[in-house]
Amino acid sequence: MIGLIKVAHGNFDLELRDVALREPGEGEVVVRVRYAGICGTDVHIARDEFPSWPPVILGHEFTGTVERLGPSVDPDLAGRRIVCEPHAGACHVCHLCRRGHPELCASKRSPGWGMNGAFASHVVVPAWLLHPLPAGIPDGVAVLAEPMAVVMTALRHASLAAGDFVLVVGPGPVGALAALACRAAGASNVVVAGRTTSPARLELLSDMGFTTLSSDVPDAVRGMTSGRGADLVVECSGSAQGIAIGIEAARRTGRMASIGLSGQPALEVPWDLATSRALDVAFSMSSSFEGWEAAIPVLARVAADAARLPTIFPLASWRDAFAALQSRSVVKAVLDPTAPTTASVAES
Ligand SMILES: [Zn+2]
Ligand SMILES: [Zn+2]
Repeated sequence: MIGLIKVAHGNFDLELRDVALREPGEGEVVVRVRYAGICGTDVHIARDEFPSWPPVILGHEFTGTVERLGPSVDPDLAGRRIVCEPHAGACHVCHLCRRGHPELCASKRSPGWGMNGAFASHVVVPAWLLHPLPAGIPDGVAVLAEPMAVVMTALRHASLAAGDFVLVVGPGPVGALAALACRAAGASNVVVAGRTTSPARLELLSDMGFTTLSSDVPDAVRGMTSGRGADLVVECSGSAQGIAIGIEAARRTGRMASIGLSGQPALEVPWDLATSRALDVAFSMSSSFEGWEAAIPVLARVAADAARLPTIFPLASWRDAFAALQSRSVVKAVLDPTAPTTASVAES
């Protein structure tokens, strides 16, 4: 099969290569991939800013159909439409696994960086990570399940409550999903802040009914909250500037959910301002089982808006997809490995 592969450490160029599909082992299934989303993490993986075990096919966000079962897999899974938690390799016995956090296990080797992922026609994954999909979620929405699970994990950690005034910083796919989830959960208002270099993203969010801001964000938020500031800031930018805006716009004793990764070893943040705000900051990493359980019904609830986030590219046009992501001309770039391939494939 053809897969989009990170060839080696230090080589930032991805390549389409012919890769053998391995047989499913004990407890594993073969999934025929329908769509696979490109994540900011994929860019970090390509640049060696996130751990990986190349040569490896990228792609940890996907939806598809269970095509083949390995030994000891529940036969009811055959033929099911699924989404899949990316926590393969979790050991089940370490302190974090036993506390219910396999997503943070040091042994985890997810599809897309620790084992072959979903930027290919098929992917082999452990069956215990699958979530069968209800009929109400089309494939183009289901492909957003992993980032929505990341969002739901963070929002639970930051105690999102009905009536909250929410400021989302960063209008990318995670920010857009966070805005939709907060609105569905009963936020009194959801404002999305983004740079003027993301006009397409801000326009789409504004069209979905969110207030969008690209300058003087803290003042504008104070103006909308009788001078208090936001109850909850959802930080999805991973940039020093975005974090500073979020801290400044939060109310005293407000909460901040931190989801964005910077890709940098360190960032300068207004620490004393955060302290004087008496902010509760909840850092969040990856997606918990509870986050996945919440993500699927929330996606069903916001499906009409969520369906507008992905832009689909054939797998062969992966360069265009990555370029569109990096230029922020699309909200979410999604690869379709079932589309006809015309690109040349390197010898493996
Ligand atoms: Zn991701
Ligand atoms: Zn573990």
